[in-house]
Amino acid sequence: MPNLDHTALAETAGFIHAVIKDTVGSDLTKIVTRFPPEPNGCLHIGHAKSICLNFGMARLYGGVCNMRFDDTNPAKEDGEYVESILADVKWLGFDYGDRLFFASDYFDIFYDRAVRLIEKGLAYVCELPAEKMREYRGTLSAPGIPSPFRDRPAAESLELFARMRAGDFPDGAMTLRARIDMASPNINMRDPVIYRIARATHHRAGDKWSVYPMYDYAHPLEDAVEGVTTSLCTLEFEDHRPLYDWVAANAELPARPVQTEFAKLRLTNTIMGKRYMRELVMSGEVDGWDDPRLATLSGMRRRGYTPEAIRNFCYSVGYAKADSRTDISQLEHFVREGLKAKAPVVMAVLDPVKLIIDNYPEGQSETVTLDNHPGDASMGMRETVFSRELFIERGDYMEDAPRKFFRLSPGREVRLKGAYFVTATHADYGADGELLAVHATYDPATKSGSGFAERRPKGTIHWVSTAAAVPVTARLLDYLVYDDPASEAGVTKNPVTLTEVSAVAEPFAAAAKPGQSVQFMRNGYFCVDYKLTTPERTVFNRVVPLKSGYKAETPKGD
Ligand code: ATP
Ligand code: MG
Repeated sequence: MPNLDHTALAETAGFIHAVIKDTVGSDLTKIVTRFPPEPNGCLHIGHAKSICLNFGMARLYGGVCNMRFDDTNPAKEDGEYVESILADVKWLGFDYGDRLFFASDYFDIFYDRAVRLIEKGLAYVCELPAEKMREYRGTLSAPGIPSPFRDRPAAESLELFARMRAGDFPDGAMTLRARIDMASPNINMRDPVIYRIARATHHRAGDKWSVYPMYDYAHPLEDAVEGVTTSLCTLEFEDHRPLYDWVAANAELPARPVQTEFAKLRLTNTIMGKRYMRELVMSGEVDGWDDPRLATLSGMRRRGYTPEAIRNFCYSVGYAKADSRTDISQLEHFVREGLKAKAPVVMAVLDPVKLIIDNYPEGQSETVTLDNHPGDASMGMRETVFSRELFIERGDYMEDAPRKFFRLSPGREVRLKGAYFVTATHADYGADGELLAVHATYDPATKSGSGFAERRPKGTIHWVSTAAAVPVTARLLDYLVYDDPASEAGVTKNPVTLTEVSAVAEPFAAAAKPGQSVQFMRNGYFCVDYKLTTPERTVFNRVVPLKSGYKAETPKGD
């Protein structure tokens, strides 16, 4: 499967190209985009969509993309997220070089522009308490009521704003509002608040400020300061665009960025909001932001998703103006396709039961050779031990099996991967009827590679010799939530999202290093967990099962 890259955007982001061509000017290499996360949590798969678009568009046209932290809200932000966000962006394959910016570096400019707005009669200090302000804002059908402070002299607003900055007033006592149009059909234009008092410590600016700018005011200024031409954001900001334009037009800065909206990524069976993820992390319901069940980029990395798979997915979903929901299995499809080509195929038994080959000499063992990848000889071969006693999957034996059960049952023959054909004879059961061991005989003529061709069993099963089996842990992960249209939230919490299995693996599999993925034959792709693995025990997370019902549209060129 070929990997999709930014060139896919030429086809999958049609309307955005049209805006770029209209707004950047004739030299499209002048395009400047930005990826502007708020450092209030870790990045998730939705952010990957935005990263691929912003960095991808810049690459496509030969322009640049700024990595900018939108860190204007001191209460919710934290420096610790800055490092993790940068690591995620790099891991995803995007290099911002020296174009790393912080909105908090522009606090003086924001303040200065606010002063100029007051001087021009375009902003005023308003002392309406929050609930009154809400009431005065009006509704979709009723115009707003002007604040009694709307026409106060500029000199008075300037003095009050300076005192707000100096920390003379408590939080919430007053705000600075843009003076636009209380009768506008767009509620965002009814004298929006552009500064609020927050006597909070900022992760970079410390205690320097007692006032902080609102998103709708700060964002266009950040873009304009950096010379961003194309400010790509998600659809919920569409109604805010007139305000964005108003601020940009009144900013007295040389650049005039243009905002364009695209649909958010929404995924089935997935929670993505940072707020909800933070709750899960803080309550200990998941094992940190990099829990492999979370849709965070760090969780996906730990789980064994590759950056190529995530990029392929983002570029294949495309960028549309209309909201839609993408099936999570589309993402899993790309993950699986990537691993199919690269992951060694190994044997591990998740629910082991003994297979005893009664006609194989006791005390004897031999070496069998296995391909590391059936489709790629360059990945080499490995050896493993074959002996009289093996572990096989409990489910690979059935006493009274239906006709189409092509595994072990008394009288039925299967191929043991890379070794011999064996025929089951009988089984031992414990007092409670539990299966203790399966007995079989082998045919010495059928050794793999011997050219034996007289008969072919219908089934092949994997196994691990008891003489070489290494205990490992396999963690089977399920979605944290399932879509549930009947519930108010649209999703239901999944009661069981993690099943830990004590498995046995051939030594080659157990020796996989943290972050390395392998295919456990017939059981799925598994990646070594870097947090839980110890020198004594390798812990695997299942990345994806081998199959899904999802049929992806074949990406072009495939
Ligand atoms: P969340 O609601 O999950 O907290 P956010 O939008 O508040 O996300 P930001 O850090 O403000 O997160 O977002 C940084 C950028 O990523 C923004 O440009 C935002 O539009 C984009 N983004 C966030 N979520 C998605 C998504 N699901 N699909 C596409 N882009 C997204
Ligand atoms: Mg946000």
